[in-house]
Amino acid sequence: MKIVYVDNNATTKVAPEVLEEMLPYFSEYYGNPSSMHFFGGQVQRKVNEAREKVADFLGAEPSEIVFTSCGTESDNAAILGTLNSYPEKRHLITTRVEHPAVGNVCTYLERKGYHVTELSVDREGRLDLDELKESITDQTALVTIMYANNETGVIFPIEEIGEIVKARGIPFHTDAVQAAGKIPINLKKSTIDMLSISGHKLHAPKGIGVLYIRKGTKFSPFLIGGHQEKGRRGGTENVPYIVGLGKACELAKKNIEEENTRVKALRDYLEAKILEKIPNTLVNGDRKNRLPNTLSVSFEYVEGESILLLLSDVGICASSGSACTSGSLEPSHVLRAMGVPFTAAHGSIRFSLSIYNTKEEMDYIIEHLPPIIQKLRDISPFWKDYLKAQEKR
Ligand code: PLP
Repeated sequence: MKIVYVDNNATTKVAPEVLEEMLPYFSEYYGNPSSMHFFGGQVQRKVNEAREKVADFLGAEPSEIVFTSCGTESDNAAILGTLNSYPEKRHLITTRVEHPAVGNVCTYLERKGYHVTELSVDREGRLDLDELKESITDQTALVTIMYANNETGVIFPIEEIGEIVKARGIPFHTDAVQAAGKIPINLKKSTIDMLSISGHKLHAPKGIGVLYIRKGTKFSPFLIGGHQEKGRRGGTENVPYIVGLGKACELAKKNIEEENTRVKALRDYLEAKILEKIPNTLVNGDRKNRLPNTLSVSFEYVEGESILLLLSDVGICASSGSACTSGSLEPSHVLRAMGVPFTAAHGSIRFSLSIYNTKEEMDYIIEHLPPIIQKLRDISPFWKDYLKAQEKR
């Protein structure tokens, strides 16, 4: 069956160059980078090389890069590691649209007695920076706000946010899992203290992440163990995956231009054709400030899960909301926070592209999607009610 994979915000294909770079580190070079002998030493050098590539990609110093097991660990480590460093402060600020890797940690902390402020977003998914300013108190230990949203692709003005936070002397973390590789990130001249990324969103494998910790930032390790990662994260390094992530960052640096030109043009083409061919369709999120690969659309009066299944039957792999919430029929917390009407939020689909997508694939989606929506609307009582109401007008 033909496969059109447009679910790249859920995960990406491992780039062939990345896999090739990783393979010798499963077989030939299996030493422990901490070992004193030459066999470990050659592996240590490769880990250092990967660290330099990641640092170069982010505009950071190699010593500021801590390898972790995934984006979720990086987020958890940033939040819990900072709170441990400021035990006297009991307040943190986040948003209502974070990924569960941040959102659920905040819910857990609330249960533990912390006070959490969740900033709201408007109908376009944008933050109100005055609300942020007003929320900061002397008790605030950390502000954690995502760089770009995984469902809508909306990009927050992260440096502006950082300026507000830093002016109050508070540590600032951002979950850049969806931004990395899609838009340029430069930590050299930045207000960001900590930043999380995840390998599998940028053509490295699942199960490798990075937490960037700016030099001088107070941080208590989340995983306590050996001296690895300069004492900031215990555990023997996942060498092949670290090597793979290094290569993926090198490629991402080269491909960012293509992401913002060819991939963006494909996304815009898909969006325009969908809006032209399917009535009662809304685009979710600020169209001026969006990741170049992401399109969240709502088809009124139909169920997102049904659309996904019918798309899947013809080989199109998309997503409704984030992959972590699929399986639940509740509209996504992001669309609810944005105030997307119930009738539309239920029928939302996310298409997320990568450099491996083609125009021919977009045409394939445009060929199959309109009849699928029509078929579902034909059996939808809500659509029938809507048509009746239109007739009466
Ligand atoms: N943060 C965001 C914004 C994400 O989209 C994801 C994954 O979907 C994560 C964090 C979690 O990353 P990982 O799957 O590597 O744990």
